[in-house]
Amino acid sequence: MRPASPLPTASALVAGDELTVVDCGAGVTVSLANAGLPLTMLERVFVTHLHSDHVLELGPLLHTAWTSGLSHPLKVFGPPGMREYLEHFLAAMRFDIETRIADEGRPPLGELLRLTEYGEGEVMADAGLRVTALRNIHPPVEESYALRFDFGGGPSVVFSGDTARHPPLAAFARGADILVHEAMLPAGMEKIVEKVGGGDRLRAHLKASHSTAGEAGWIAREAGVGRLVLHHLIPADDPDFSEADWLAATAESWEGPVTVGRDGLVVPIDKKREGAGA
Ligand SMILES: [Zn+2]
Ligand SMILES: [Zn+2]
Repeated sequence: MRPASPLPTASALVAGDELTVVDCGAGVTVSLANAGLPLTMLERVFVTHLHSDHVLELGPLLHTAWTSGLSHPLKVFGPPGMREYLEHFLAAMRFDIETRIADEGRPPLGELLRLTEYGEGEVMADAGLRVTALRNIHPPVEESYALRFDFGGGPSVVFSGDTARHPPLAAFARGADILVHEAMLPAGMEKIVEKVGGGDRLRAHLKASHSTAGEAGWIAREAGVGRLVLHHLIPADDPDFSEADWLAATAESWEGPVTVGRDGLVVPIDKKREGAGA
């Protein structure tokens, strides 16, 4: 990570006084604080897959919420492997956690966490929120998912997760208010391959595991979403590529509203958009 370069992936969904976090790349904890979101609002955390740019700061986020005073059960949803991550994180922090329980009277952190290892299908459902998962295409990671959040009587948001072009995502995201999709710029990708060296293997990985902005636009169009938000951008911080390049690449396949992601971006959800469910 270079100075002032964009942070890895993390998103916050705020509905009423409940905070849901999707992915926990490095920087998620301070970013939530900078956004004015108290960690005691944290209700549930989802991890789309176990690559470090999505999970590295999960444990520190949960621990910091706990030391900030969170005392209600905290739901954690992740693919198989999540239990192992959490058990080892708690073990790594055992001295601190036991000390704070005894010395500060905090509730046991491990007992506050409610873990669900999920697969494809319904992940959770209650009166206020239904979450479903669709396996995506992100080799060599098999347990990698897109997630759909349908808030009760309200908006819906879909995250593609990290994925190569995956047509079933269009049906999965049908009519969503917002589709947050990962994206690459092909020209930028070639520049990265040139710069990093070892070209063919890196190029093959990027093509097999990620989507171009045009492919993200295609999914948005087929799904009839209200707005496309591009994130997990590759390249993320090359000064030779501006927002105009991202918009031009997306416009190949998508004429609707599009937002190019950046750290701290806030996207309000308009429940009354026209043309929903196209
Ligand atoms: Zn990944
Ligand atoms: Zn990633």
